[in-house]
Amino acid sequence: MLQQQEVHAAEMERTFIAIKPDGVQRGLIAEIISRFERKGFKLVAIKLIKPSKEFAQKHYHDLKERPFFNGLCDFLSSGPVLAMVWEGEGVVTYGRKLIGATDPQKSEPGTIRGDLAVVVGRNIIHGSDGPETAKDEVNLWFKPEELVSYTSNAEKWIYGVN
Ligand code: UDP
Ligand code: MG
Repeated sequence: MLQQQEVHAAEMERTFIAIKPDGVQRGLIAEIISRFERKGFKLVAIKLIKPSKEFAQKHYHDLKERPFFNGLCDFLSSGPVLAMVWEGEGVVTYGRKLIGATDPQKSEPGTIRGDLAVVVGRNIIHGSDGPETAKDEVNLWFKPEELVSYTSNAEKWIYGVN
C-alpha cells in the first residue's frame, strides 16, 4: 500500500513558466515569482537565458501558422527570458489562473496579466497550457539534472500531510 507521503508525491505536477523579455526588462521578476511562491507552489528549476530564434520557434511550434508567429519568436529570442519550473498540486491549471487570459484586456484584475500588462503582444509571462504541453516544455527548456528535487519545509503546512 502507498504511504500517505507517496500518494502526495504522486499527485505533484510540474509546469513550465517563463517571464518574457518585457517582464524581465520591466523589473517584474520578483513580483511574479512571489505570486507563485506565496500560493504555495515550489520552485524546482530556474535560469535566465537568451533563447535563439530557432529555439523560440520550437517553443511556439503550435502557433507557426499564426500571423504573429514571426514577431513573437523575434521578441522571445530578444531575451532575456527567466525560465522556471514550478511544482505543486494542480500547478498547471492553477498557474494559468494566476497568469490570466492571453489578452491582458480580458485578464481579470488580480491576475498577473490583469494587474501588470496591457496588450497581448507584451503580456509578460508564459505558462504551459496543459499537463502534456508542460512535460514537453519542461524537457525543451531544462536538462533533467537542472531540476532540483527537495522537500520544502512548508509542504506539511501547505498540504496538511505529515
Ligand atoms: N499572441 C499575440 N497575438 C495574438 C495572440 C497571441 O501576440 O493575437 C502572443 C502572446 O504573447 C501569447 C503568445 O502569443 O502569450 C502565445 O499565444 P497563446 O495563444 O499560446 O497564449 P498563452 O498560452 O500565452 O496565453
Ligand atoms: Mg500558449
